[in-house]
Parts: sequence; structure tokens; C-alpha cells
Amino acid sequence: MYLRISREDFSWSRSRKAIPVFGLLWSGVLVLALVTVFALRSHLQSIEMSEANQLLTSYLNIHRIFSRSYGPLRFNQENLHEDLIFVRVKQGGDQTLVVGSQAGATGFKEILGLGPEQSGVWLPVDTADGRRVITVITKKYDHGVLVQAGKDGSRGYQLYLKLLRYTAIIVFGSIVLLWPLSLYFIKLSLDPLVTTRKRIRELGKSRGGFLPEHGNGPELDRLYVQINKLIRQNRHLVAEMQQSLDNVAHDLRTPMTRLRSVAEYGLQGDEQAPRLREALSDCLEESERVLAMLRIMMSVAEAESGTMRLEKVDTDLVSLLQQVVVLYEYVAEEKKISVELQTETPVRLKVDPTRISQVWANLLDNAIKYGREGGWVKIIAGTAGDEAFVVFSDNGIGISPVEQGRIWERLYRGDRSRSQKGLGLGLNYVRAVIEAHDGRVSVESRLHQGSRFEVALPLAQEAIQDTIDV
Ligand code: ADP
Repeated sequence: MYLRISREDFSWSRSRKAIPVFGLLWSGVLVLALVTVFALRSHLQSIEMSEANQLLTSYLNIHRIFSRSYGPLRFNQENLHEDLIFVRVKQGGDQTLVVGSQAGATGFKEILGLGPEQSGVWLPVDTADGRRVITVITKKYDHGVLVQAGKDGSRGYQLYLKLLRYTAIIVFGSIVLLWPLSLYFIKLSLDPLVTTRKRIRELGKSRGGFLPEHGNGPELDRLYVQINKLIRQNRHLVAEMQQSLDNVAHDLRTPMTRLRSVAEYGLQGDEQAPRLREALSDCLEESERVLAMLRIMMSVAEAESGTMRLEKVDTDLVSLLQQVVVLYEYVAEEKKISVELQTETPVRLKVDPTRISQVWANLLDNAIKYGREGGWVKIIAGTAGDEAFVVFSDNGIGISPVEQGRIWERLYRGDRSRSQKGLGLGLNYVRAVIEAHDGRVSVESRLHQGSRFEVALPLAQEAIQDTIDV
């Protein structure tokens, strides 16, 4: 497994999610550090205390200061153990303090003031040579005799300070490590979501297929099964709606044809009143329009269901394009749009010439219809690899990114196109026919700058062979 890092991994939204994770990890490190420091501290202190205790006991034993009857105190600076800083004996109101040579000259007020219960480590004491740290031990004997002794605790204390310093460095230094680690955890936890988003986007592009239901780990597998269920339901619903629409179109054809015939019949002869003639002409025109619409819808339905009958013959795409350009010369001139056809030598394909001519007509019609007054349309045709391509470019009104995903739908018309005549079926038909020929069609467009529709069709096998032979 390798780590692929992208800019998104350091985005603010990711960092925001990583903050609680980081907080949790860092608190963990902090707690661990504090527990370790306190454990080591109490360990050091217990060593200090036991050393002090040993020193005092051995001192008391050696000098037999306390006999059974607590005889007179017989200790002085000379017989004080060198590691002991002081020994203090308190009995009633009397107290004796013996201070060792290493204690420094003066300044033992604190020792004299030590409470009877005071026993501990690392008591700061001011001496003539400055502040020092001592470990004090207190022992109680019968008849209210209290013996206190102090030993130099600076070694243990220095060790403890060092430990504290290193721990602080580790705790703050861990930020450098923990922050990328938190970001990595967030990346790991979001990875399935990101993968799912990409897969769904691919599904949307391919307009078919399903998410893989195995091999993604149990959670994702279960999620994908549910999503696939939804996709199936959705597709079934869309198919049913399209089927109903096709049925309606099919059923409307007969009454519409009859309506047109009746209007035609009514218009025969000259005896009708002008108003009646006009109304009948309108009826004829509208029924023609509806019939054209129904015809296209039926063709699309046929193409999509794979039942479109294609009369495929060996055809030269270039001559088909030339014919269509001539057909639209007048319309283009009216809008002062120049139409330029750039082609290579004949591009021969096995296609249904009538259907493919309708495709070129639709694309050129749109390019002129949605082109700007005095603009241009360029048609380029040629071959690339094992495909023939035809590109229609214009510098017209363009299509917004949102609309680009919808223009292929049945009956969809762009908001800014409503001023133009149209049924919203042209591109739907174009795609159905091209896909029925195993080709593809795509669009690139920029709003207010123009559009570019590209059709790619597989070259006839013979044509490919010719190209290889040449
Ligand atoms: P119609 O042209 O009848 O509206 P089409 O299916 O041919 O329907 O086109 C669908 C929509 O796509 C149009 O309404 C228009 O908004 C947009 N369109 C198609 N071709 C172009 C083009 N060359 N330039 C700008 N918009 C276009």
C-alpha cells in the first residue's frame, strides 16, 4: 500500500476534522507523560527517604544516643555522619541542633522551625551559599522525643528536574508528529467516502453499470448493495416512464394523422370562408409539428431499445456534409453566419445515410440557431486511428456547465433557447442515432463564447484495411 497525498488532505475542512483527533492523541501523550513523571518522582523520593532513614538509624545506633533510659545526648558536629546535613532532637521545650560541615555557615532558621510531623523530600532551605534542597526525615520516640535529620537531596532533585525538562520537550515535540498523524487518520477514515464519490461519478458518466458489491470491506459492501438497489429502482422507474411516453407517442400518432388528413381535406376547394381556411391551415401546421415530434420520439425509442432499422451502406461522410451545408446556406446567410467545411479526402463509412444526414442537419441547425449574428460555424471532418470524426464548432451563445449535462435529455430546452423554434428532441435523436452506429458524441462549451460538438464513428473495416495498406 502506498500513500497518495493530495492538496485536499491539507484543506481547512480536513484540518478541522483532524483537530479533535489531534486533541485526543495529544491528551493521551500528556497523561502518559504526567503519570510517568509522577511515578518516577515518587520512586526517586522513596529512595531519598530510605537513604535518609538509613543514615539517621545508623547514626543513632553507632553513637547509642538513645539508651533505654534516654540518657544525656552525646552527639556533636564531629560525630555527625558526613552525608547528614543536620540532626535535631526535640524533647519538650528543649531542642538540640547539630549542623554538619557541608551545611554551610549559617541560615538554618527553617530547620529550627520545622514542624514535628514534617517529613519529606526536597524541602528548599536558604543557606549562606544560596538555596539548597534537603530531604528531611522525622522519627518519634517515647516520652515525646522527636528526632529529625536532613540529607542533601539535590542529586535526586536535579534528576527529577532533568526528567521534567525532557518530558516537556517530548510532549511539545510530539505535536510535530501527532498533527500529520491526525491528518492521516482522517484521510484513512474518509477514504471510503472519497472512493464512493469517485465511483458514483464514474457511474453517472457511463450511464450504466453498478458499484462493486464485493471486496470493499463489509461496511462498504453493504452500503454499495443498498446504493445498487436504489440505482436499480431508479432505472426501472425511468424505463417505465420512458415506456409510457413512447406508448403515448405511439397512440397519438393515429389520431394526429387523422386530424391532419381532415384539415387537408377541409382545405381542398375554394368554397370555405377565409377564417375557416386560416383555422384549418393552423390545424394542419400544428398537427405536422406534433407528428414530427412524435416521429422523432418514436425513432429515439427505437434506437434506445435497439430496434431502430439502419439501412447501412458504404457512404462518404464528406459528401453528406456538403449536401447538408448547401441545404442550410440560406438560413446561415439570413443570420450572416459563415459556414466553413474543412475536410480531408473522402471519409468512407458504412452508415445509414438518411439518419446520419439528419444528425449533421441537427448539429448544423443548432450551431446556426444558437450562433451569433455575423458569427461563424466550422465543420471539420477527418479520421483519427480507427475512428472518423466530425466536429461542429460555433462562436454562439454557448452552454452553461449545468445545462451541458442535460441537453441530451428528451424534450430538454436551454433557458436561453426558448426564443428559438425547437422541440428539445434534436440532440436526443443525434445521440440515439450515433450510439446505434456504435459511435459517441460529446460537447465542450463555454457560456457566451461558443460550443463544440464532436461525433466519432468507427471506420468501416474495409476502410481501416485501406489505411493500413497505404
Ligand atoms: P432544440 O434545439 O430544439 O431546443 P436540441 O435537443 O437540439 O433542442 O438542443 C437542446 C438544447 O441544447 C437547446 O435548447 C440549447 O439550449 C442547447 N444547444 C444545442 N446546441 C447548441 C449550440 N450549438 N449552442 C448553444 N446551445 C446549444
